[in-house]
Amino acid sequence: MANQTLDLSDELYRYLLSVGVREPDVLMELREATEAEEMSMMRSAPEQGQFMALLLKLMGASHVLEIGTFTGYATLWMALALPRDGKLVTCDVSERWTFIAHRFWEQAGVQGRIHLHLRPAIETLDELLELGGAASFDFAFIDADKENYGTYFEACLQLVRPGGMIAVDNTLWGGRVVDDANREASTEAIRAFNRKLIDDPRFDLCMLPVADGLTLVLKNHV
Ligand code: CA
Repeated sequence: MANQTLDLSDELYRYLLSVGVREPDVLMELREATEAEEMSMMRSAPEQGQFMALLLKLMGASHVLEIGTFTGYATLWMALALPRDGKLVTCDVSERWTFIAHRFWEQAGVQGRIHLHLRPAIETLDELLELGGAASFDFAFIDADKENYGTYFEACLQLVRPGGMIAVDNTLWGGRVVDDANREASTEAIRAFNRKLIDDPRFDLCMLPVADGLTLVLKNHV
């Protein structure tokens, strides 16, 4: 197990952030505003936001779908990585958290690229499909209620183009996935989701130990 991913100490993690992440000021301010709130652990990590932004640039992505906006931190990383005419559809049900998001999206000058749908994500995903949105997105990021991951994923797999990517957050779930005593609905949902994905031939898959576990799925060309 000599080459297994490092267990990062706080010191090593701070080092990684100091020499490995270029976080724009507006994102740092949004992160600080989020940290002042309860539930701030739901915010994505800076190294993860930067990684997804890099993926979007690598893919030349212009259409992105996000399930779970929260305070819009990952949203903003991704929106900043899009071309001027790019479009990001983001779904959430919380007026309180997304209210914080708007201020920083505006400050970053990318609010025109971001389309927030404030209602259950399943309704937005169904509507996108009904309006002919299948295969119209380059990238989707799923980071919302864990019990619905399977449903979100199936919809995203239709909405993302062949050769497009889906990133799924929290797939290591704080390590609770390997705690047999943990029978919480969210933990069971993540376990079932991970188990289902590994056996599915419709895409390539790569689970990364970034932040709380990030699973990348590359939709096959047919
Ligand atoms: Ca998350």
